[in-house]
Amino acid sequence: MAPKTIISIRELKQLRKSFAGKSLALVPTMGALHQGHFSLVKKAQEIADHVIVSIFVNPSQFGPNEDFARYPRQLQKDLNALQSLGIETVFSPTGGEMYPQGFQTWVENTAMANQLCGASRPGHFRGVCTVLSILLNIVRPDFCIMGKKDYQQWRIVSRMTEDLHLECQIVGCEIVRESDGLAMSSRNAFLSSEHRQQAAMIYKGLKIVDEAFLKGQKDKEVLSRIFQDHIAAIDGAQVDYAELRNREDLGEWQGDDQVKPVFLAAVQIGGVRLIDNIELGT
Ligand code: AMP
Repeated sequence: MAPKTIISIRELKQLRKSFAGKSLALVPTMGALHQGHFSLVKKAQEIADHVIVSIFVNPSQFGPNEDFARYPRQLQKDLNALQSLGIETVFSPTGGEMYPQGFQTWVENTAMANQLCGASRPGHFRGVCTVLSILLNIVRPDFCIMGKKDYQQWRIVSRMTEDLHLECQIVGCEIVRESDGLAMSSRNAFLSSEHRQQAAMIYKGLKIVDEAFLKGQKDKEVLSRIFQDHIAAIDGAQVDYAELRNREDLGEWQGDDQVKPVFLAAVQIGGVRLIDNIELGT
């Protein structure tokens, strides 16, 4: 059966009441679904009695010069895919439903969000935290399933649920990749075939960093340089950041074994900004 597509918050809250006594997982997405999203859906189905997938291209997390208008939208195709996964409910509200006239309250992380992707996308995580707060309040899930593909987002939203005492466990899932290693992303569709081939170099660069780390290289400058030199072989590519951080609050890694490191990178190829990361030494 096709998933029930709910567009109104009132209706979703009513449905939520009928799940009383059962566990519920939310998989928040912006649609244009691929295997990365499906892995989150499968995780949700494993751990909860009911699953709601939300599809909402959230305007408030896009900057004025970003790709909100051309972000891929393919609701019917997404619904068909979710049907074959056995999803019963999809929440797909309009912008006006989520941000009605008079909306003026925002949720902001004031530390982790100012660096890495937040430095080049001011206001991005404010939009993410706000929309996630709204979704978590409407859906009231026991679990919210997120991908480590957006590592900083996952850590910020985890921190937000702690800080605001939200009754929801944030579950992080591993990155799903194409056969050449490129992390799956709805934005990969923007790449020309030449740039798509080049984009596979990002994960190769991360693997080289991981190898160097495993061989004992722990210097953040050296590891960043190794990655940047690798990407320099791609004509026209630009590294936005390539950073060694700790996995908890994404601050500087202190070299201790209690809190392990992650290496995160954002690279522009052919005008498309691609992000990826690798948990080092696992
Ligand atoms: P998006 O639709 O891009 O906002 O992503 C929705 C969720 O899917 C986020 O939690 C992402 O981190 C996750 N996600 C996107 N791509 C992947 C991937 N390749 N592997 C795992 N999770 C992913």
